Amino acid sequence: MTGPVLIIGAGLSGAVLARQLADAGQPVTVVEARNHVAGNCHTARDAETGVLHHVYGPHIFHTADTGVWDYVNRFARFMEYRHRVLTTSGGRVFSMPMNLLTINQFFGRTMSPAQAQAFIATQASGQPDPQNFEEQALAMIGPDLYAAFFEGYTTKQWGVDPTALPASILKRLPLRFSYDDSYFAHPHQGIPRDGYTAMVTAMLDHPDITLVLETHFDPASAPADAHVFWSGALDGYFGHSLGRLGYRTLDFAHQRLSGDYQGCPVMNYADIDVPHTRITEYKHFAPWEDHAKTLISFETARDCAEGDIPYYPIRLVEEKAMLAQYVDLAAGTSGVTFTGRLATYRYIDMDVCIREALDLAEVFLRARAVGAKPPVFSHAPL
Ligand code: UDP
Repeated sequence: MTGPVLIIGAGLSGAVLARQLADAGQPVTVVEARNHVAGNCHTARDAETGVLHHVYGPHIFHTADTGVWDYVNRFARFMEYRHRVLTTSGGRVFSMPMNLLTINQFFGRTMSPAQAQAFIATQASGQPDPQNFEEQALAMIGPDLYAAFFEGYTTKQWGVDPTALPASILKRLPLRFSYDDSYFAHPHQGIPRDGYTAMVTAMLDHPDITLVLETHFDPASAPADAHVFWSGALDGYFGHSLGRLGYRTLDFAHQRLSGDYQGCPVMNYADIDVPHTRITEYKHFAPWEDHAKTLISFETARDCAEGDIPYYPIRLVEEKAMLAQYVDLAAGTSGVTFTGRLATYRYIDMDVCIREALDLAEVFLRARAVGAKPPVFSHAPL
């Protein structure tokens, strides 16, 4: 196997894979449909305010994987940043994720950690094996906190009743009986000073990487001896022949104002009668910068239609059945490896994308060295 290597998509998966293969002496061509690299973590300076804009919504880098942390620090100067989120519920502002401050504020108490833990145990359902998002929340925090902070937000975010969603979505968020209000518990956390697009551009800056932008790649056009890494949507590779895998997409309504709009980077809106899920004020992701003006966006979620940007895979019963059919189709292919968030139809963070791309590069190089078939998936989608 010595044919050309094509990497479809210049997001994190594609860029890390390209860099690793190029560093190992394997020339690659990266083909990207958009007019920029970095996929959905793309950042750009807003011309009017000068603020670094996370164009497809807020991205905060956090990881417990020291190898991944060292890797990204090779390509970007990461600035110290601890993400904190607030949420507005019933006309009051609370701390998120749920911590001792949230609990004491909400119930108008001054409980200690042990008292709060005992109190929440009286609220929680105690159900041993929660089967869905709502059961998981009721088992963890009980009905009042669930109704105030999760029910409305989750219904707006996912467009379905929380009883239809997997418990795993809630497991992304911790419950803390301390005043630690850091959104993420990972030891390594930061924001690249010049943005994610500069970081990905540096990854792709290598004599053995050829980058082609604004080009839709047609799988049928691949040379017979090529190996293709596909980081686009799984169903997109097959021309959506079995139907469209369901995604939620996001709409961002931007405003440019002067001063400080909300005093924090992200304010969630938990109430169902407020249409947006959150407001992001981008300059607060870069407290080391100074801007008189500000850029904010009101974020709303809806089902992804043709031509929209896919963000969150829905992965309910119907989608999983269709996914299984696409996985079967993929199993019959050769000369292609599906990798990354879209091609494996998973809700994964940036650090996981990078880890999987690093590992895939190794697996591929080993397979190529002995003439073995590379894997069809970097990570099983089901
Ligand atoms: N969530 C919620 N209320 C909040 C924050 C999160 O109900 O104030 C739920 C919601 O269902 C969301 C999930 O928890 O999809 C995971 O939240 P996370 O902040 O990880 O979502 P992301 O930032 O990836 O959109």
